[in-house]
Amino acid sequence: MSRPDVSSEGEPPLESTPASLDPADAFALIGNETRLAILEALWAADDRPVPFSALRREVGMRDSAQFNYHLQKLTGHFITKVDGASDEDGTGDDGYAFKHAGEKVVRSVIAGSFNEHPTFEPFAVEGSCFACNGALEARYDDERLTIVCTDCGEAHGEYSFPPGGLNDRTAEEIADAFDQRVRHLHCLAADGVCPECSGRMETEIVDEGECCLGVRVRVDHECAQCGHTLCSAAGLRLLDHSAVVSFHRERGVPLDERSYWTLPWCVSDEYTQVLERDPWRLEVRMPVDGDELRVTLDGDLSVLETSVQTAD
Ligand SMILES: [Zn+2]
Ligand SMILES: [Zn+2]
Repeated sequence: MSRPDVSSEGEPPLESTPASLDPADAFALIGNETRLAILEALWAADDRPVPFSALRREVGMRDSAQFNYHLQKLTGHFITKVDGASDEDGTGDDGYAFKHAGEKVVRSVIAGSFNEHPTFEPFAVEGSCFACNGALEARYDDERLTIVCTDCGEAHGEYSFPPGGLNDRTAEEIADAFDQRVRHLHCLAADGVCPECSGRMETEIVDEGECCLGVRVRVDHECAQCGHTLCSAAGLRLLDHSAVVSFHRERGVPLDERSYWTLPWCVSDEYTQVLERDPWRLEVRMPVDGDELRVTLDGDLSVLETSVQTAD
């Protein structure tokens, strides 16, 4: 059986995995156009592993030795060399595939975190201000998206939104993607998982000062590993709680089709009451057409009790 002869291109034998890198060395390794091009070519390939020669062609570098030099810098940390002969049937191709870190780098480039600084003009979004009934708009600055009242300036949520999320989306689709992202990030955080690094996320009820959202009684999440923080009104956690969903559905309000910022109990603390401080007990009120759902939460945001007050 003939196998592609790659050794003629100066490719060295398989190597064992080097020890882990410190972050500065890792950044130095990928701070090079050829190496980024290698990672991007690997990403764009239909099949992986990608043979040495195909990868070199894709990157468009004639000098095989020079290409190999850059390839070897990445190998072990960001990509791995796969020996096709060790496949189950022994017929696979030799070539290169991603390690987790390499895939993360390419994803970050695609998400635009490293190489883009996009902006867009503020655009109107659905709903009105819970404080003054003014019109709301979405603004984008420093890779954060904010929903703001155009009259009184009240914030209705401000969270990171990677620039890649702006590509190929209309204004309405951006607003929708932002809504989904905020819901999911807070869900993860409330479940104790950092959305940035998967570290342990601590949840704390706070009722002093004001956060970035201008909310006093609120929920703060902080990652014990990377220090990432998120804050919200207590109601945000309740968006997919079954009693909350059915109370609204029975009254013609499908919560999964409403942007969270159109629900005042998700963005304001006006509907949150502190019942007890030690241990924490909070009550969130959700009025709909004269009826009201009252949800009691503990300090971990677990629902202790729900009750419905009807209009008559
Ligand atoms: Zn307002
Ligand atoms: Zn973290």
